[in-house]
Amino acid sequence: MRFPLALTAKMARHIISHKIRRTPKFALVLQLEPLHTCNLTCTGCGRIREYSTSLKDMMTLEDCLGSAMEADDPMVSICGGEPLIYPKIEELIDGLLDQGRFVYVCTNAMFMRKKMKDYLASIYTPALEPTVLKLIEEKLISEKDAETVRKGKHDQRPVIKPTKWMYWNVHIDGLEYTHDLIVEREGVFKECVEAIRMAKLLGYKVATNTTVYKETDVKEIEQMFEFFSSLEVDGHTISPGYEYDAAKKDMVKRLGKQPEDFFLTRKMTREKFAKIEEWGQRFTLFGTTVYQEFLAGKRELTCTAWAIPTRNIKGWKAPCYLMTDGHYEHYQEMLEKVDWNKYGVVNGVARDPRCENCMVHCGYDPSGALGTNYQRGDNWKNFKYNFSAKPKPYYEGRKINAFNGASIGKGHLAEAKAAINPRTGAKSAFQNDASEPAAAGSCGTVDTSQRDELLAKISEVRKS
Ligand code: SF4
Ligand code: SF4
Repeated sequence: MRFPLALTAKMARHIISHKIRRTPKFALVLQLEPLHTCNLTCTGCGRIREYSTSLKDMMTLEDCLGSAMEADDPMVSICGGEPLIYPKIEELIDGLLDQGRFVYVCTNAMFMRKKMKDYLASIYTPALEPTVLKLIEEKLISEKDAETVRKGKHDQRPVIKPTKWMYWNVHIDGLEYTHDLIVEREGVFKECVEAIRMAKLLGYKVATNTTVYKETDVKEIEQMFEFFSSLEVDGHTISPGYEYDAAKKDMVKRLGKQPEDFFLTRKMTREKFAKIEEWGQRFTLFGTTVYQEFLAGKRELTCTAWAIPTRNIKGWKAPCYLMTDGHYEHYQEMLEKVDWNKYGVVNGVARDPRCENCMVHCGYDPSGALGTNYQRGDNWKNFKYNFSAKPKPYYEGRKINAFNGASIGKGHLAEAKAAINPRTGAKSAFQNDASEPAAAGSCGTVDTSQRDELLAKISEVRKS
């Protein structure tokens, strides 16, 4: 089976029971942002602007768990910010698991190994020595770490344990050079790989989460899948990036520029995702085949953003993860008060100009699962995709030149420094605006133009 039976069965039961009750709108996945603080300063991180005044605020544990009860969905994706910074992340994961939900922890991976060492210490007995020695041998923990693990864990705080109900969902936007450039720190890709290897060795479920931008090299994304498949990663989420920019839209109108100069348009998204169905056969891509067909340009879907709602410190964010026209105190209130007919693209026609080029997973993947725009055979296609054999790990992927950046002395920091003109003090395209707060946001919700600028720079570097 491609996906865990427990998850597939739970999701199917949830949808069928709501269909029987004729519930007009309901949640499939809750995107929970307990905080917007982050340890990284990725280029173009979206939440930095939107929530710059509440970076230090965080939701209480009770509020987080209460939100999941309100949405009453089978799956919760804990994002942010960096959720592993949330002081009660262990209690939050445990609480959601106790509620019977699947949990995705969307992380940049920088604290994953620390959390897994806490877990090891909590279960340490001499019988665990072979695992500890293996981790040392694989250079995933140091001798010093091993000593700490051997001392055991003596406080009563919970730890993040491996379970088939929880996935680490690691944010990766390319191979080493590209990823480190986007997250603006050398060594992050390497840490992601080490954290993933350690997680797999300890029996955790691991997925990767990738956003495709206008300048993303699709060949590199394919290589990235091949590489992570060789590490036996359990699944991948991939979605086109999207950002509406009214100023640029205006330039398209007034100066007669092409939308392609600024946006990842629907046409371009379809070109980038032309091979997604083939990838879906080779790799364990999460999502429905119907959404894959939509991305590949084979059909239209209607946005169902209400099915993947976002809850954060300000409330329930409407209408979707990307756009904010308001925050509501309760999920039901949001469902009732938002005029959903104002949003999305129906049969290729945008109801709201901001939605025109959007094909993101949080708006359209649920449409595939819910049977919106149902076509004969869709249920069978989705069923076959879910229940067919999981693609085998692609061990040839180990030969991919994944460590093509800092590991081979081709990091980006030197280039970034060189790109700053010392006389004029001009800013490098590799750097964020120093006047902006230095943190926070949510992986995948970004100022895509900034990332595109960076990725364009990468292809220039490659050509030279
Ligand atoms: S199409 Fe849907 S998900 Fe996309 S921006 Fe519009 S409301 Fe949000
Ligand atoms: S995109 Fe934003 S939230 Fe995600 S790791 Fe980067 S700075 Fe943190």
